[in-house]
Amino acid sequence: MSAQLRTPGPSPRIVIIGGGPTGLGAANRLEELGHTDWVLLEGADTFGGLASSVLDDQGFTWDLGGHVLFSHYEYFDNLTSGLLGDAWLEHVREAWVRMRSRWVPYPFQNNIWRLPEDDLVACLHGLVALTQQGPQPPPKTFDDWITQSFGQGIADVFMRPYNFKVWAYEPREMNVAWMGDRVATVDLPRVLENLVRQRDDVAWGPNATFRFPASGGTGAIWTALANRLPAERMLAGHAVTGVDPESKVVTCANGETFAYDYLISTMPLDVLVQRLTPDLGIGHLHQQFRWSSSHIVGIGIEGDVPDDLATKCWMYFPEDNAPFYRATVFSNYSPANVAKPGQQWSLMCEVAESIRKPVEHASIVDETRRGLVATGLVDDDHEIVSEWNTFLPHGYPTPFVGRDALLDQIEPVLRAKGVFTRGRFGAWKYEVSNQDHSLMQGVECVDHLLSGTPELTFFDPIAANGR
Ligand SMILES: Cc1cc2nc3c(=O)[nH]c(=O)nc-3n(C[C@H](O)[C@H](O)[C@H](O)COP(=O)(O)OP(=O)(O)OC[C@H]3O[C@@H](n4cnc5c(N)ncnc54)[C@H](O)[C@@H]3O)c2cc1C
Repeated sequence: MSAQLRTPGPSPRIVIIGGGPTGLGAANRLEELGHTDWVLLEGADTFGGLASSVLDDQGFTWDLGGHVLFSHYEYFDNLTSGLLGDAWLEHVREAWVRMRSRWVPYPFQNNIWRLPEDDLVACLHGLVALTQQGPQPPPKTFDDWITQSFGQGIADVFMRPYNFKVWAYEPREMNVAWMGDRVATVDLPRVLENLVRQRDDVAWGPNATFRFPASGGTGAIWTALANRLPAERMLAGHAVTGVDPESKVVTCANGETFAYDYLISTMPLDVLVQRLTPDLGIGHLHQQFRWSSSHIVGIGIEGDVPDDLATKCWMYFPEDNAPFYRATVFSNYSPANVAKPGQQWSLMCEVAESIRKPVEHASIVDETRRGLVATGLVDDDHEIVSEWNTFLPHGYPTPFVGRDALLDQIEPVLRAKGVFTRGRFGAWKYEVSNQDHSLMQGVECVDHLLSGTPELTFFDPIAANGR
């Protein structure tokens, strides 16, 4: 395809950068609407992006971090159901916190009775102080929100250390816009009753379920979607290295160029602004973005899953005796996630890294293994048969203080040039960056381009999440 100047007509030429859920959602929507003038450029050799899965050398399947399918959209449910038919398994969402050598059910604040005495007293002091304080100003940072919602004790014992491990930034560097209008009220009488009765108060139950592909991991969903799109318009191995927003042409690493009327970009926004020529006066703003990278470490183990992990889905780790903030018992999601179903089990661990929280890449697998022993998940009797790891340079789009002002400086400039930056790192809105949100950002963007309908998820995350 040759580069040429174009003005959007009744059948605009649409180029999509990225074949993750957002790009695939956009491409699929174009096909649904019978609009065939599009091409999708994916830098990797396969489709699925961060929602891909990997089969390691020992036959274990891994996701790129624990992926659980949530949905706020009927469209998303219908589409994903149709992609895998009845090849789904259903699970109860059982989440726990592992700390002080014990298990605390999630949500943490309702189950502090499980803590050692000193921690429990600190948490209770903070909760009682909350009832005695007068009206508070609206929180400015995530740290304010934590202390105003949970009190100083829970903030110190769990919230701050855990959130630093997850985000790799201090909560005081993060905004509250991503929380939407979420209000985490702590029900003190209930907490006290749980304490007296020593009662576990769990968030899961018959309705808290999720679906997981019977085989192939989360990536099976996105491979199925990519496979049903026309191969001639799905160009893997096409990394975009340059975007000319004036002549409306993108250039790939292999030298090929593609003209567009509208560009839907799902590549990280900090990278996109650096690849613009001319840069529309926004190129320098890339320095202001904050994000974290993710190390994913998979450990495959011989034998039966230990009894205390047999029904657990994922676990949070706030302490520094393990590098990971979360581990998933991935073999519990599907027997097909291990090489020899019924004879092996697997753990998938996530470690966050940022400019504030460096991680030694060379030793991360060893540290993870040591962390699994230190937290009591694995012991010396366990025979590890697979160790797999990968590094995701862009893992979490940090909702940093100043984020929304920065996005407001960039997005309208791009949109005015026909460039729509959408998706987890394209939109940089953590609050709408799960798979359902991402796919729908692609769908809604196409609907907007072809019929002028508003893009709910991108422009109004609170409304989208309130559905
Ligand atoms: C650790 C972790 C845990 C997660 N857990 C969950 C969960 O429990 N539930 C959930 O729903 N979601 C979860 N997610 C989020 C989920 O992965 C995302 O919602 C989804 O992948 C975002 O889709 P996307 O298309 O916007 O971006 P991506 O998946 O990042 O896809 C972008 C694509 O663009 C391509 N690309 C980038 N640059 C270029 C370029 N220059 N040229 C061409 N192509 C390019 C990339 O290769 C990639 O394929 C998690 C993510 C992570 C990292």
